[in-house]
Amino acid sequence: MHVVIVGAGIAGLSTALGLARRGVRVSVLERRETPFGGASGLNAAIFRPLEAQKMMTALARRNGELLDELLGHRTAWLDARGLVFTGETRTLRALEVEAARAGLRSRSWRGAELTAHLPALTGGRWPEGLWLAAGGVIDLHRVARALEQECRRLGVEVACTSEVTGLASWRGGRWAISTKGAPERLADALVLAAGAHSARLGELAGSSMQLRVFKRTLALLQPDDASLAHVVWDVTTETYFRAESGGVLASPCDEDPCGPDATASVTQDALATLGQKLKPVAPELAKSTVRRAWAGLRTFSNDELPVIGLDPDVPSLFWCAGLAGAGMTTGVALGDLAATAVLGARVPPSLAARRFSTAPRRRVRP
Ligand SMILES: Cc1cc2nc3c(=O)[nH]c(=O)nc-3n(C[C@H](O)[C@H](O)[C@H](O)COP(=O)(O)OP(=O)(O)OC[C@H]3O[C@@H](n4cnc5c(N)ncnc54)[C@H](O)[C@@H]3O)c2cc1C
Repeated sequence: MHVVIVGAGIAGLSTALGLARRGVRVSVLERRETPFGGASGLNAAIFRPLEAQKMMTALARRNGELLDELLGHRTAWLDARGLVFTGETRTLRALEVEAARAGLRSRSWRGAELTAHLPALTGGRWPEGLWLAAGGVIDLHRVARALEQECRRLGVEVACTSEVTGLASWRGGRWAISTKGAPERLADALVLAAGAHSARLGELAGSSMQLRVFKRTLALLQPDDASLAHVVWDVTTETYFRAESGGVLASPCDEDPCGPDATASVTQDALATLGQKLKPVAPELAKSTVRRAWAGLRTFSNDELPVIGLDPDVPSLFWCAGLAGAGMTTGVALGDLAATAVLGARVPPSLAARRFSTAPRRRVRP
């Protein structure tokens, strides 16, 4: 069996690794010069072990275990500096309950204790924060390198500068895959892990899968005092920030709908929104100058959960896409799940691509 995967972001390389470990021959086709050149290399690298849906929290845990296994130790891929949620007390209480349920170590910091841990919040609107020990910052370069090296060691072909331009299926479910400037390839199964471009490629393959793409901005700020011991995520205002390269990396959590070819350019509106959101949360930080800013694309399914496994309509076509805003936290686990799906395993219904079937449901006679 030969599987071709389109895309060498976290989704594609993790699916390739899962398949290669199970003895399958795999080729990964990537249009850029190196892996992780798309969203996987342009994100905030925050490991958020507690997600809104229980399924995503469980995937984050599994993701951590798989990365520990791949890189040998948690400190090899994660700077577990802790993540502090701020926001309305009611929301923090609910998160605290969820953290306990998920077995995650957390503590509530109030008033002076909060600002002692995080002086940047001095003068801010929230009297409380919820610290999660397991949160932190992922070393994207190490994860990318480890995934690629392990894939290659297991015999995976990782072909960069190989843009897929055509997909044709034959009877019996085999695929002919055209790439720019390279000979056509044949495959027994095709996995779309092309991030923002996945739906467009799906259309070429005859699928009607819908994905939505949104631009999100990141800015590297230069405040007077850049010391920030933890990642801060404000769940009410929807903004986050953390220390990075002697400055502070922050996002206004903007969601600008766009196409898959949108550029990484940043609008003045997005930077103004960042200033407005930071002001009530971390007033001094809001006064910082912007050293550099860029944007990346986040890809969502219609119910905002990832799309994994066999296409509802097209035989031998598989998905590992729609990783939304948590792909670095869950992508290795999702890729592993996609790999098992290619080999015939069932995917949890809330993640299965088949949940988007457009075929009319068959009536069951009483
Ligand atoms: C600004 C921002 C901040 C984020 N912050 C976080 C965070 O802090 N924590 C977190 O967990 N997640 C975060 N995310 C989400 C995370 O980055 C994504 O969920 C994840 O990177 C998606 O990975 P992917 O492999 O699906 O897509 P990508 O990384 O985009 O990979 C898809 C690959 O497919 C390739 N490709 C596309 N078309 C073709 C073609 N025709 N032929 C060949 N190759 C093709 C692309 O070049 C690309 O390399 C953030 C995202 C953004 C944009």
